[in-house]
Amino acid sequence: MPLRSPTKASPPKSLFIPQAISSFLALVPCDYATSFHSCNGEHSKVGCIRKQIQFYVRVCVLILSLPAMSLAQAVHARVPESNFDAERAFGYLRQQVAFGPRVPGSAAHEQTRALILRTLSECGFTTSVQEFEAYAPAMKQVVRGFNLIGIYPPGSRAHVILSAHYDTRCIAELDPNPARRELPILGANDGASGVAVLLELARVIHQRKALNTPIALVFFDLEDQGLGADSRGFCLGSRYLAANLPPALIDFEIGINLDMVGDAQLTLPYEAFSFQAAPELVEAIWEIGAQVDSAVFVKRKGPAV
Ligand SMILES: [Zn+2]
Repeated sequence: MPLRSPTKASPPKSLFIPQAISSFLALVPCDYATSFHSCNGEHSKVGCIRKQIQFYVRVCVLILSLPAMSLAQAVHARVPESNFDAERAFGYLRQQVAFGPRVPGSAAHEQTRALILRTLSECGFTTSVQEFEAYAPAMKQVVRGFNLIGIYPPGSRAHVILSAHYDTRCIAELDPNPARRELPILGANDGASGVAVLLELARVIHQRKALNTPIALVFFDLEDQGLGADSRGFCLGSRYLAANLPPALIDFEIGINLDMVGDAQLTLPYEAFSFQAAPELVEAIWEIGAQVDSAVFVKRKGPAV
């Protein structure tokens, strides 16, 4: 997939809507370019992230109703209020950031895995871990990866996958400050924000109990450890999952990936790959999103991510 130049930073894209397994690979990327754009001054942005997070969950709550109604019905349905707690979601973000950079193999990475699995279990999800090994170009070594999967209701086969990646990039080689280019990024936005939304969403689902459709929350690993313009080094966890779908996911129809959903000035045009693969679904979701905040969900074609 093409990667945008970080010198031509454009608004980060956070939702990707693959509709079939064949498109899943291309449509569950993390945004390499905006990762670097976002990591600059990320500490100062943390306070701005909180107010953005709540947008997505109201949209996600309606998305969970999609298989039970037509797209047209969903678009015209009133976006429901939810008991999503933005403060608690932001707490999940803070917890991850407090662990430190979640570079694969680090203690912070392990602590984040534990946080995710513990929260999913507390919310009544069936949990599983998909282990794999892959060469991570930015780390210059073969690394063990852990995709984390939560299924609700327990033991069901999910029709909708909501996902995010929880690893954070091991180097910030494009940081304007040369002294920081060998350091890992903190990933408050790129990594922690998507995870925070999904963990709080798990609580919302648990409290609702009845869902119109079985859902999987998937937390990808090794998504952000590629190098340069070679896309093959990125999205290693989602690629592995797509090639090795667990039985609980083989019936999935809709996949939505959340990444960098907490930018301080967030604008989300249609992501090009998603629009190419599933235009009706993209338009429907953006229509719903625009009901929540039309300044964030902008209904025009954006760049490929
Ligand atoms: Zn990312």
